Amino acid sequence: MGHHNHHFDGDPFANKGLWSPPTSAAKYLLRRDYAVTVYIAELINALSSLAYSYLAVRRFSGRMRKHDPLPVALFLVGFSSTGYHATLRQGPQFLDDMSMLFLGACLLQTLYSHGQTPAVSALVAAAVALGTGAMAILYIRSADILVHFSTFTIMVNLIWPRTLYIIYAGSSRPTREKVKLVLRFRKAAALIVGAFLVWNVDLEMYLQLRAIRHKLGLPWAWTLELHGWWHILTALGATEYVDLVRALCY
Ligand SMILES: [Zn+2]
Repeated sequence: MGHHNHHFDGDPFANKGLWSPPTSAAKYLLRRDYAVTVYIAELINALSSLAYSYLAVRRFSGRMRKHDPLPVALFLVGFSSTGYHATLRQGPQFLDDMSMLFLGACLLQTLYSHGQTPAVSALVAAAVALGTGAMAILYIRSADILVHFSTFTIMVNLIWPRTLYIIYAGSSRPTREKVKLVLRFRKAAALIVGAFLVWNVDLEMYLQLRAIRHKLGLPWAWTLELHGWWHILTALGATEYVDLVRALCY
């Protein structure tokens, strides 16, 4: 989940893995590919991606409803992100990016159909499905990561204001309950913003981090795999957010 496009082909094992050569257009992570096993290109990134799936099962497995796409979408993000980081192939990368759009679409549909008539809810579902589907096709045809990034950014900026609107104006909740809900919103947002900062440090300081990790050696070098921390922090934030949206809309 969440990639950019620096390339680094100088690692000794980069082209010696089961899934080599990497075909992903967004291959960036500057890790020592296949350094631990020939079966997994980026071990820490693949393992840390499982946080989404693990948290989806742990938080929601006892609380699933009949039509409950949000936990399923969260689970799929982890599953497909693991597939991408394990292989660095273009197909799994598309699946990984599609899973993010699917989670965004599920959140949009849940939030914007909340409190609406069945007819309006159906219109919302159609608009979200058409919009997401069109952007997904455009992304796959162009393989331009910016199409995906822009689509997901638009989704996020439609999701958070609607969430706050439902907390503050969408119901006659007592003030004390609104305060609790806003605190949950802030907790999720803080985790996601923190994750984004870590992601940017990883992007901007990749050469320095790579040199430090090389000096440290394994296993301590793994603690500076910031893309792994990005996975864990976004998994925690997304799980909190999904839980909040379920509390607001179900
Ligand atoms: Zn990732």
